[in-house]
Amino acid sequence: MEKVIITIDGPAGAGKTTVSRAVAKELGYTYVDTGALYRGLAVVVRQQNVDPGDDEALAAICKDLDLSLVPGVEETKVIVNGEDITGQLRTPEISMTASAVSARPLVREWLLGIQRDLGAKGGAVFEGRDMGTVVFPQAQAKFFLVADPSVRAHRRHQELQEKGLAPTEEEVARDMEKRDRNDSTRAVAPLKPAVDAILVDSTQLNIGEVVGVILGRVREIVS
Ligand code: C5P
Repeated sequence: MEKVIITIDGPAGAGKTTVSRAVAKELGYTYVDTGALYRGLAVVVRQQNVDPGDDEALAAICKDLDLSLVPGVEETKVIVNGEDITGQLRTPEISMTASAVSARPLVREWLLGIQRDLGAKGGAVFEGRDMGTVVFPQAQAKFFLVADPSVRAHRRHQELQEKGLAPTEEEVARDMEKRDRNDSTRAVAPLKPAVDAILVDSTQLNIGEVVGVILGRVREIVS
Protein backbone atom coordinates (compact mmCIF):
# COMPACT_ATOMS: atom_id res chain seq x y z
CA MET A 1 0.00 0.00 0.00
CA GLU A 2 1.29 3.46 -0.90
CA LYS A 3 2.51 5.48 2.12
CA VAL A 4 0.30 8.54 2.43
CA ILE A 5 -0.41 11.36 4.87
CA ILE A 6 -3.43 10.83 7.09
CA THR A 7 -4.82 13.80 8.99
CA ILE A 8 -7.01 13.50 12.07
CA ASP A 9 -8.44 16.77 13.35
CA GLY A 10 -11.16 17.56 15.85
CA PRO A 11 -11.97 19.18 19.19
CA ALA A 12 -10.40 18.30 22.54
CA GLY A 13 -11.35 14.94 24.00
CA ALA A 14 -12.78 13.46 20.79
CA GLY A 15 -10.31 10.57 21.05
CA LYS A 16 -7.85 11.83 18.42
CA THR A 17 -4.70 10.80 20.26
CA THR A 18 -5.66 7.21 21.03
CA VAL A 19 -7.16 6.72 17.60
CA SER A 20 -4.26 8.34 15.71
CA ARG A 21 -1.71 6.23 17.58
CA ALA A 22 -3.62 3.03 16.89
CA VAL A 23 -4.06 3.85 13.19
CA ALA A 24 -0.34 4.65 12.87
CA LYS A 25 0.66 1.46 14.67
CA GLU A 26 -1.60 -0.68 12.49
CA LEU A 27 -0.20 0.80 9.27
CA GLY A 28 3.43 1.04 10.43
CA TYR A 29 3.21 4.82 10.05
CA THR A 30 4.74 7.60 12.16
CA TYR A 31 2.34 9.23 14.61
CA VAL A 32 2.74 12.99 14.98
CA ASP A 33 0.97 14.87 17.76
CA THR A 34 1.11 18.50 16.59
CA GLY A 35 -0.64 19.80 19.72
CA ALA A 36 2.59 18.89 21.54
CA LEU A 37 4.35 21.69 19.63
CA TYR A 38 1.85 24.30 20.83
CA ARG A 39 2.07 22.83 24.32
CA GLY A 40 5.89 22.94 24.21
CA LEU A 41 5.81 26.61 23.33
CA ALA A 42 3.21 27.17 26.07
CA VAL A 43 5.57 25.69 28.68
CA VAL A 44 8.25 28.21 27.70
CA VAL A 45 5.74 31.08 27.62
CA ARG A 46 4.68 30.27 31.16
CA GLN A 47 8.25 29.75 32.39
CA GLN A 48 9.13 33.20 31.08
CA ASN A 49 5.93 34.71 32.41
CA VAL A 50 4.98 36.11 29.03
CA ASP A 51 1.44 37.22 28.11
CA PRO A 52 0.29 34.79 25.37
CA GLY A 53 -1.27 37.76 23.53
CA ASP A 54 1.99 39.74 23.42
CA ASP A 55 3.21 39.19 19.86
CA GLU A 56 6.48 41.00 20.38
CA ALA A 57 7.44 38.83 23.33
CA LEU A 58 6.26 35.70 21.49
CA ALA A 59 8.34 36.59 18.45
CA ALA A 60 11.39 37.04 20.67
CA ILE A 61 10.83 33.60 22.21
CA CYS A 62 10.28 31.86 18.86
CA LYS A 63 13.34 33.48 17.29
CA ASP A 64 15.75 31.79 19.68
CA LEU A 65 13.85 28.65 20.58
CA ASP A 66 15.08 25.27 19.48
CA LEU A 67 11.80 23.33 19.64
CA SER A 68 11.64 19.87 18.21
CA LEU A 69 9.21 17.03 18.12
CA VAL A 70 10.43 13.47 18.32
CA PRO A 71 7.61 11.22 17.14
CA GLY A 72 7.19 7.85 18.81
CA VAL A 73 4.55 5.14 18.82
CA GLU A 74 3.59 5.65 22.46
CA GLU A 75 4.22 9.35 22.83
CA THR A 76 5.60 12.34 21.03
CA LYS A 77 8.58 13.80 22.85
CA VAL A 78 9.12 17.53 22.92
CA ILE A 79 12.65 18.84 23.25
CA VAL A 80 13.22 22.49 24.05
CA ASN A 81 16.79 23.76 23.82
CA GLY A 82 18.04 20.23 24.41
CA GLU A 83 15.77 19.53 27.39
CA ASP A 84 13.04 16.88 27.29
CA ILE A 85 9.93 18.68 28.60
CA THR A 86 7.39 16.01 27.61
CA GLY A 87 6.38 15.45 31.24
CA GLN A 88 5.25 19.07 31.59
CA LEU A 89 2.88 19.25 28.62
CA ARG A 90 -0.40 17.81 29.86
CA THR A 91 -1.79 20.04 32.56
CA PRO A 92 -4.98 22.13 32.33
CA GLU A 93 -2.89 25.34 32.55
CA ILE A 94 -0.70 24.33 29.63
CA SER A 95 -3.80 23.36 27.61
CA MET A 96 -5.24 26.86 28.02
CA THR A 97 -1.93 28.62 27.32
CA ALA A 98 -1.39 26.42 24.24
CA SER A 99 -4.81 27.43 22.96
CA ALA A 100 -4.03 31.13 23.59
CA VAL A 101 -0.64 31.09 21.81
CA SER A 102 -2.06 28.99 18.97
CA ALA A 103 -4.37 31.86 18.03
CA ARG A 104 -1.38 34.09 17.20
CA PRO A 105 -0.62 34.03 13.46
CA LEU A 106 3.14 34.38 14.01
CA VAL A 107 3.16 31.23 16.13
CA ARG A 108 1.22 29.24 13.55
CA GLU A 109 3.49 30.45 10.78
CA TRP A 110 6.58 29.49 12.81
CA LEU A 111 5.29 25.98 13.45
CA LEU A 112 4.14 25.36 9.89
CA GLY A 113 7.60 24.47 8.55
CA ILE A 114 8.39 22.14 11.46
CA GLN A 115 5.15 20.23 10.84
CA ARG A 116 5.57 20.00 7.07
CA ASP A 117 9.15 18.75 7.47
CA LEU A 118 7.86 15.93 9.64
CA GLY A 119 5.49 14.91 6.85
CA ALA A 120 7.98 15.19 4.02
CA LYS A 121 8.45 11.44 3.62
CA GLY A 122 4.75 10.50 3.85
CA GLY A 123 3.65 7.48 5.87
CA ALA A 124 2.45 9.53 8.83
CA VAL A 125 -0.69 10.18 10.84
CA PHE A 126 -0.90 13.83 11.86
CA GLU A 127 -3.17 14.75 14.72
CA GLY A 128 -4.22 18.36 15.34
CA ARG A 129 -6.75 21.06 14.56
CA ASP A 130 -5.73 22.31 11.11
CA MET A 131 -3.90 19.34 9.62
CA GLY A 132 -6.43 18.78 6.83
CA THR A 133 -7.23 22.45 6.21
CA VAL A 134 -3.86 24.24 6.39
CA VAL A 135 -0.80 22.12 7.11
CA PHE A 136 -1.52 19.25 4.69
CA PRO A 137 -4.33 20.40 2.39
CA GLN A 138 -3.14 17.78 -0.15
CA ALA A 139 -3.33 14.87 2.33
CA GLN A 140 -4.89 11.80 0.75
CA ALA A 141 -6.96 10.75 3.77
CA LYS A 142 -8.53 13.34 6.08
CA PHE A 143 -10.69 12.68 9.10
CA PHE A 144 -12.53 14.94 11.52
CA LEU A 145 -13.38 13.29 14.81
CA VAL A 146 -16.30 14.56 16.88
CA ALA A 147 -18.20 13.42 19.97
CA ASP A 148 -20.83 14.93 22.27
CA PRO A 149 -19.30 17.50 24.64
CA SER A 150 -20.38 15.59 27.77
CA VAL A 151 -18.75 12.40 26.51
CA ARG A 152 -15.56 14.29 25.65
CA ALA A 153 -15.42 15.95 29.08
CA HIS A 154 -15.95 12.59 30.77
CA ARG A 155 -13.13 10.95 28.81
CA ARG A 156 -10.73 13.82 29.44
CA HIS A 157 -11.60 13.86 33.15
CA GLN A 158 -10.75 10.16 33.40
CA GLU A 159 -7.44 10.72 31.62
CA LEU A 160 -6.47 13.52 33.99
CA GLN A 161 -7.45 11.45 37.03
CA GLU A 162 -5.23 8.63 35.82
CA LYS A 163 -2.38 11.14 35.80
CA GLY A 164 -3.16 12.14 39.40
CA LEU A 165 -4.56 15.55 38.43
CA ALA A 166 -7.71 16.50 40.27
CA PRO A 167 -10.02 18.96 38.49
CA THR A 168 -13.73 18.11 38.73
CA GLU A 169 -15.60 16.94 35.64
CA GLU A 170 -17.44 20.30 35.60
CA GLU A 171 -14.11 22.15 35.53
CA VAL A 172 -12.88 19.92 32.72
CA ALA A 173 -16.10 20.54 30.76
CA ARG A 174 -15.81 24.31 31.27
CA ASP A 175 -12.14 24.43 30.22
CA MET A 176 -12.84 22.26 27.22
CA GLU A 177 -15.74 24.41 26.09
CA LYS A 178 -13.58 27.53 26.41
CA ARG A 179 -10.67 25.96 24.52
CA ASP A 180 -12.94 24.69 21.72
CA ARG A 181 -14.48 28.16 21.43
CA ASN A 182 -11.00 29.78 21.23
CA ASP A 183 -9.84 27.19 18.71
CA SER A 184 -12.95 27.39 16.50
CA THR A 185 -13.30 31.16 16.43
CA ARG A 186 -9.69 32.27 15.90
CA ALA A 187 -9.05 34.13 12.67
CA VAL A 188 -6.17 31.95 11.47
CA ALA A 189 -6.53 28.19 10.89
CA PRO A 190 -9.62 27.73 13.05
CA LEU A 191 -10.72 24.28 14.10
CA LYS A 192 -13.05 23.08 11.36
CA PRO A 193 -13.32 20.08 9.07
CA ALA A 194 -11.64 20.31 5.68
CA VAL A 195 -14.26 20.22 2.92
CA ASP A 196 -12.97 16.80 1.91
CA ALA A 197 -12.64 15.40 5.45
CA ILE A 198 -14.58 12.32 6.52
CA LEU A 199 -16.56 13.05 9.68
CA VAL A 200 -16.46 10.34 12.35
CA ASP A 201 -18.67 10.67 15.43
CA SER A 202 -17.20 8.66 18.30
CA THR A 203 -20.02 9.34 20.80
CA GLN A 204 -21.46 5.85 20.44
CA LEU A 205 -18.33 4.07 19.23
CA ASN A 206 -15.44 2.61 21.20
CA ILE A 207 -11.84 3.21 20.16
CA GLY A 208 -11.58 -0.08 18.26
CA GLU A 209 -14.65 0.78 16.22
CA VAL A 210 -13.40 4.26 15.34
CA VAL A 211 -10.01 2.84 14.34
CA GLY A 212 -11.81 0.24 12.22
CA VAL A 213 -13.84 2.92 10.41
CA ILE A 214 -10.72 4.98 9.71
CA LEU A 215 -8.59 2.05 8.54
CA GLY A 216 -11.42 0.90 6.28
CA ARG A 217 -11.65 4.30 4.64
CA VAL A 218 -7.86 4.63 4.32
CA ARG A 219 -7.65 1.25 2.58
CA GLU A 220 -10.42 2.29 0.18
CA ILE A 221 -8.67 5.57 -0.60
CA VAL A 222 -5.18 4.15 -1.00
CA SER A 223 -5.88 0.85 -2.74
O1 C5P B 1 -4.30 18.55 20.73
P1 C5P B 1 -3.98 19.27 22.01
O2 C5P B 1 -5.12 19.34 22.96
O3 C5P B 1 -2.75 18.76 22.65
O4 C5P B 1 -3.65 20.76 21.53
C1 C5P B 1 -3.43 21.80 22.45
C2 C5P B 1 -3.86 23.12 21.82
O5 C5P B 1 -2.95 23.41 20.75
C3 C5P B 1 -5.25 23.12 21.18
O6 C5P B 1 -6.26 23.51 22.08
C4 C5P B 1 -5.09 24.13 20.07
O7 C5P B 1 -5.32 25.44 20.53
C5 C5P B 1 -3.65 24.03 19.68
N1 C5P B 1 -3.45 23.30 18.44
C6 C5P B 1 -3.66 23.97 17.26
N2 C5P B 1 -3.40 23.36 16.08
C7 C5P B 1 -2.98 22.09 16.04
C8 C5P B 1 -2.79 21.36 17.24
C9 C5P B 1 -3.07 22.00 18.43
O8 C5P B 1 -4.07 25.12 17.26
N3 C5P B 1 -2.70 21.54 14.88
